[in-house]
Parts: sequence; structure tokens; C-alpha cells
Amino acid sequence: MSTAPIQHLRPALDPAAITWRQLRRDAFWQAIPAWREIDEATFCDVAWQEKQAITSPRKLIETVGPLAPADFIEDFEQGLHRAPMTVRISPYVIGLIDWSNPYADPLRRQFLPLASQLQPDHPMLTLDSLHEQADAPVPGLTHRYFDKALFLAHDICPVYCRFCTRSYAVGTDTDLVEKVSIRANPERWDRAFQYLGERIEVEDVVVSGGDSYRLRADQILEIGNRLLDLPNIRRFRFATKGLAIQPMKILSDTPWLDALTQVVERGRKLHKEVCIHTHFNHPNEVTGITEDALGRLFERGITVRNQTVFLAGVNDEAATMTELVRRLSYVNVHPYYVYVHDLVRGSEDLRTPLHRALDVEKAVRGSLAGFNTPLFVVDAPGGGGKRDAHSFEHYDRRTGISVYAAPSVKPGAFFTYFDPLTSLDPAIQAEWQDPRKAEAMIAEAIQAARATS
Ligand code: SF4
Repeated sequence: MSTAPIQHLRPALDPAAITWRQLRRDAFWQAIPAWREIDEATFCDVAWQEKQAITSPRKLIETVGPLAPADFIEDFEQGLHRAPMTVRISPYVIGLIDWSNPYADPLRRQFLPLASQLQPDHPMLTLDSLHEQADAPVPGLTHRYFDKALFLAHDICPVYCRFCTRSYAVGTDTDLVEKVSIRANPERWDRAFQYLGERIEVEDVVVSGGDSYRLRADQILEIGNRLLDLPNIRRFRFATKGLAIQPMKILSDTPWLDALTQVVERGRKLHKEVCIHTHFNHPNEVTGITEDALGRLFERGITVRNQTVFLAGVNDEAATMTELVRRLSYVNVHPYYVYVHDLVRGSEDLRTPLHRALDVEKAVRGSLAGFNTPLFVVDAPGGGGKRDAHSFEHYDRRTGISVYAAPSVKPGAFFTYFDPLTSLDPAIQAEWQDPRKAEAMIAEAIQAARATS
């Protein structure tokens, strides 16, 4: 065997530069006054996490005490009155927030609305911007793509995200939004499975809601087995944000994990794919607890893919997004999609112009293997489905209007996406406030798209 030294073509790397592998394993939650004495076993018990979830400003004060300044709490209370989503945050996330600067913290920004940061909604915003209800032959079952359907099993989540696309239905009513009901209901489920069996072209189902973490073990088995029993269904995924905000469930809720494993294994014997689609948005959400949980899923042969939402002040920098996808790849999660933020009520401060996402995409592509490089997509408002963000027919950065076509979903139709008004010149912002001028700008953009497509 040769012992000759190898002439490296690259400079040696300082191990400290491999930041995405440095997952925190400290007792970070003990910085929170109410949890100073809480040991790791208690913190990693999912039942404890559920009991301690923050659901109101009062509970936040009781938990974090002096860490949250009085004006911050006041700002949060005011923000809640104008929010489409209620609040529910796990202790895991509360412990990961940097309370020395909660205004800028990327996890706080996702879940706690602050009145001082809210911006007026875009004039073209509608509550169900993706038209999921219009494409639903059965309540809670959207059939838009030829071979794929979205089954909303229920309407509850272990966390409520400020920017939820499904704010028209998910969670309880807020001062701003009265929700459409998609509760877990045996008759509604029966009709959904009947429809899926009758539509022989459907092979692919997303089980979402709400969040699959909130389905009981027996419900995971029921949904899983009923889908596996349908000959036309070849693959389905349980959608959950739970891995990002409560990873300890995988380590401490054995009946739930066993139920999921049973469905995955039965699927494998039938040559059908069952996997998890999850939702991490920032590298700080990935810790040693996440690594252990994802390791457990990997041992059981359960594939996990990630769908990130592109959020201002959270992951709209190339370095943050690159770190996130590297960290996810390291813990065996496939970074699958990055969604340019949908037009969702009360979350305009989290949206970015399309060109920002395009720039970050260019920076990320090439830094990892292709199968671990996410596709940046715009979920075209009005029901066009997911389009590669770069595939617009027309994009006018001055008006902030991009136009997409979706020939295999709705042939001949054009779908428009709108950059946030604050990213535009003040004169154009003023034009958007005049409905006639807004209509004229949109018509002009569609005409330009038609001319080039
Ligand atoms: S977990 Fe998913 S469905 Fe639930 S509030 Fe967040 S984005 Fe919406």
C-alpha cells in the first residue's frame, strides 16, 4: 500500500467551518425561567411538550418571564388581534428562540405575530388563494393535478404558522377569520376514499390537514390501510411539520411511530411508497434531538422529504438557505421544495419579491448533490399548481407581477403572482391602490405573457 502523501487540490478545511454538522445538544430550554429545573428526559417527553405549549400571551409571560420585555408582549397581543391564525408553540421552539432579540429571531417571526411588523395585505390577496376549495369534489379533498389528490384529514396542528396557506380552515377562528370546517369526520373520510377509488387515474395522495402529528395511531392505521387497499393508489405521504417543532414525538410516542411503520412496511410489501413530507424553515430548528428522531425514522426505512417556505427575515439569505439544506441532508431529510410564499392574509411582512427567491436559488444550486437541491416553486394563485419559480412567461419587476402558465393543469390559462407592495417603487405602490390601474397592470402583464408563450 502506498504511503506517499497526497497533493490536495483544495486548502485544508477548519473543522469549525463544517457548521451544518454542529447540532446543539445542550440543555437550551433551561435558559427559560419556567424550565430551569427541567431535565432532558422530561423535556423530551411529548406529553410534557403538549402540556406546556404556549397558546396565549399570558402563558408566554408565565413561561419566559423577564426574558420578554413588556412592550414585546403588548406588541404580540396587538398582533394577535390582526392574525389569521391562533397561537400554539411547543416548548422546543420557545427554547430555541433567541430571547435577547425576539424581534429579529427567525423562529419567533414564523409563529408569533407582532403588530409593529405587520404590513397591509396585497390588494389581490384572497383567503383561499390556491383555490383548494374550488378544486374539491368532496369537502377536504382537492383534486387538481391529473394523478394526485390532497386529502385534508382534519384541521389541527401541533403548531400554528403565521403564514399558513390553509388559514381558511386550519386552527380555530380568530378575530380576523372564521374557519371552514374540515374536522376529522368518518362520513367525510368515507366519501374521500370512495372518490379516490372511483378516480382510477389518481395514484398519489398527500394526507395533510392540519398535520399528521395530530392524527392518533389508530387514525394513521385507518387512513394508511384504506389507501393501501385502493388498487390505483401507488404512493402517499403523511404531511407533518411536527419533526421541526416537536421531534421528541418520534422518540417518545411509540404507538404513533409503530402505526406509521406498520403502514410503511405493508406499503413496501405491496410495492407502494409511503413516506413523510415535513416542513423545516431554518437551520436553528435542527438540533441533536432532531438528529436522533430522524435517525430513528431512517432505521425504520421511512423516507422524509422537506418542503420549506421562503420567508423574509427567516431564510431569504443564500447562506441561511444553504446551511438549512446541508443540515437537512446531513440528518437524512431530502430538501425537496422551497415555496415562494403564497399570498396569505396577515403575513405580508414574511413575503419577498420573486427575484429574491430566484437569486437565492442560483446561489444554492451546485452546492449539494442534485437530489438534495430543492426546487424553488411558485404555487400559482388561482389553482395553477406548483410551477418552477424560474418558468414564468413574463415577470415585470417594476409592477411586481409574474405570470405563469400550467398547460398540464389548466391549459390556456394564465396565473399571476404578485410581489409584496413594499418591495416596489412608491409610485407603483400608489397605482396598486387604484382598482382600475391595478386591473390595467395585470391585463398588460397577461398580454405580454400571451405574446411570448
Ligand atoms: S403546520 Fe402546516 S397546516 Fe399547520 S399551521 Fe403550519 S403550515 Fe399550516
